[in-house]
Amino acid sequence: MTRVGILGGGQLARMMAFAGAPLGLRFLVMDTAADACAAQFVPLLEADYRDEQALAEFAGRVDVVTFDFENVPAESAQWLSQRVAVFPNPRALAVAQDRLAEKSLFNELGIGTPRFSAVESRSDLERALAEVGAPAILKTRRLGYDGKGQFRLRTEADADAAWEALGSQAGSVGLILEAFVPFERELSVVAVRGRNGEFRTWPLTRNWHHDGILSASLAPARVDPAVEAAAVDAARAVAESLGYVGVFALELFDVGDRLLANEMAPRVHNSGHWTIEGAVCSQFENHLRAVLGLPLGSTAARGHACMLNWVGEMPPASHALDIAGLHWHDYGKQPREGRKVGHATCVSAAAADLAVQLEAVGRALDREAQVADVVTTLRAG
Ligand code: AMP
Repeated sequence: MTRVGILGGGQLARMMAFAGAPLGLRFLVMDTAADACAAQFVPLLEADYRDEQALAEFAGRVDVVTFDFENVPAESAQWLSQRVAVFPNPRALAVAQDRLAEKSLFNELGIGTPRFSAVESRSDLERALAEVGAPAILKTRRLGYDGKGQFRLRTEADADAAWEALGSQAGSVGLILEAFVPFERELSVVAVRGRNGEFRTWPLTRNWHHDGILSASLAPARVDPAVEAAAVDAARAVAESLGYVGVFALELFDVGDRLLANEMAPRVHNSGHWTIEGAVCSQFENHLRAVLGLPLGSTAARGHACMLNWVGEMPPASHALDIAGLHWHDYGKQPREGRKVGHATCVSAAAADLAVQLEAVGRALDREAQVADVVTTLRAG
């Protein structure tokens, strides 16, 4: 019996466990919270990620370690990797934890990014603004997620307000200033690389955000084959340079004539949730196959899929469960503003039918605004 250890016990660990059950896998999650939602189904080791005694117990009880949460201290991942197989490797985790390191790597690999500059002090922010130009976004280098730890500067005059908001974090998590990109659309490529170096990607996904949080994902995104090939090449280059094993997502801005890389997530990703019902093998199952050295499954789409995130609180399932092609996911979490508490995925053989389904979901759940852009995109053909 193989037991997979997951650092972080949120919805990603929970969905990984659901995907691993048919493969006969057992799981253990480590999380700081007693109410981590994966622990409703999986044994939990409740401890701080820096607690060496707990890490030793964790390593002793599992065959392989992976993550549902990229902000596990890199030293803890390193410590574990000396005792048990850890995938992705701690270096990949460390690079992906730091916006400056990841963007620098992208540029070294010839992958375009928004212009960026590290910011260490208030005067440094002036220099960075002159270099990067306005509008721009000041972000924390580490520990930011879902648009948290970010401040948008419309003009140079917003520098004081930006420093007021984030300056106190310059010493601890570091700051980076990025040019604001007037992108046409946001795309992500979800990719998997096996222990033997085999590399696969799911069809490109188009994403819509609301308040910095993913709101909807549509796949396969309709893009020029050359754009898709560029995205896949970029993901492959990143994976190979890091010796990456497992699933990751590369978030991209499509600015019309080219793609710019925003960031990589060193784990299964929200923009890949549609693969549970919309692909032959889901990102969760393929991640497990990859970290265990098993053959990878097909990443082909089963049709057209759209995932809608439920943020803050769950809409009433009973209003929508009769819509054919709809799949419901309630993460079992307490409602809280800005918190991802669940999602739904609609899958259909034809794009036109998916648009009709989404409109029905929008009406049933009073979420017309959330589905509107996706429906328009599907109808535009
Ligand atoms: P991030 O935490 O970097 O993924 O940012 C969250 C969201 O903010 C992205 O998905 C974009 O919608 C937006 N965003 C982040 N960085 C930029 C940028 N440099 N230019 C324009 N929009 C951005």
